Amino acid sequence: MEEFTFISKITPKTYRQAPIIKGIGDDAAVLRLPGEDLVVAVDTFVEGVHFTDQTLSPEQLGYRVLAVNLSDMAAMGARPLAYLVSLVAKKGREEEFYYRMYAGMEALASRYRIDLIGGDTVVGEELVLSVTVLGSVPRDQARYRSQAKPGDIVFVTGSLGDAQAGLNLLLDEKTKKRKLTSWERTLIRRHQEPEPRVDFAQALRPIQRLALNDISDGIANELEEIATSSQVTIVIEAERLPVSLELQHFPRLQQEEWKLFGGEDFELVGTVAEEEFPKVKEIGRMQGLEVTAIGRVSSDRQGKGRVFLRKDGRERPLEKRGYIHRSEDSE
Ligand code: ADP
Ligand code: MG
Repeated sequence: MEEFTFISKITPKTYRQAPIIKGIGDDAAVLRLPGEDLVVAVDTFVEGVHFTDQTLSPEQLGYRVLAVNLSDMAAMGARPLAYLVSLVAKKGREEEFYYRMYAGMEALASRYRIDLIGGDTVVGEELVLSVTVLGSVPRDQARYRSQAKPGDIVFVTGSLGDAQAGLNLLLDEKTKKRKLTSWERTLIRRHQEPEPRVDFAQALRPIQRLALNDISDGIANELEEIATSSQVTIVIEAERLPVSLELQHFPRLQQEEWKLFGGEDFELVGTVAEEEFPKVKEIGRMQGLEVTAIGRVSSDRQGKGRVFLRKDGRERPLEKRGYIHRSEDSE
């Protein structure tokens, strides 16, 4: 691949965002952010580890790695501005692949009015795509995981477990051999093209205090991060975890496992004062996004930094990752 031609082909003609003073074409990009705090996140996808040609098309690969970063911006309450792409192109692969990948990024970038402002290109043995996103928040207004307080309502956007179900369908040899149903295609799209909740997080700006996290590793894990950072206890109720109609095609235990531990839904989970929760719900409703109360923050001293799941009238500690099937659970 000829680097100069490649870069000139992916360079935007104009920039959407005013803070960008210099984009692609110099040694580094320059942004000006008066009165704002800069918010930065990076995510890396390695072929064969995070995706294969079986799970993502080139467009979806570009879309997804940017979406994952935008989800981090949403979880910080930040407005995304621009992104940079570090690419290890795989030796011998046709250039067309990369243009399609950039087209996938641009499809999402144009929706959120953000700009490609730089990157780096090298050739190597494996395809590695790393995207860095820059965003901004009004000074001192980033949403931290440490903001949860006892008495808060715990809420989550959208539905849980769909992306994991979709990935399982993609990898299942049996489904590969037949035509997919429409609900299966919906679940698969939830893995391939997650919607970062950027607009919702922006619309939450009037809410004074919020703890926010995005669901990359599963809600059990994300809630533990909030509980630990905020030094509180969180109790959620199994029956309240939002489930899509599509996911209900799977057995109940499978649904529950994916809802709690599946991850990659890129929904937002957060906590907010009880009296503010109706506003949060209304902001979601205005965007056609369901917001569900799933539990409470408490100050139970023994359980600080821990998460509990209430199910069938019993409360038990929720493990961070993966479902631990104890003998008492398999009745
Ligand atoms: P330098 O030698 O200063 O690192 P490069 O030749 O690597 O510059 O890059 C030239 C310009 O193209 C820079 O603005 C850089 O940010 C941008 N760029 C290089 N590779 C990519 C890429 N894969 N995606 C987006 N921008 C890129
Ligand atoms: Mg370079």
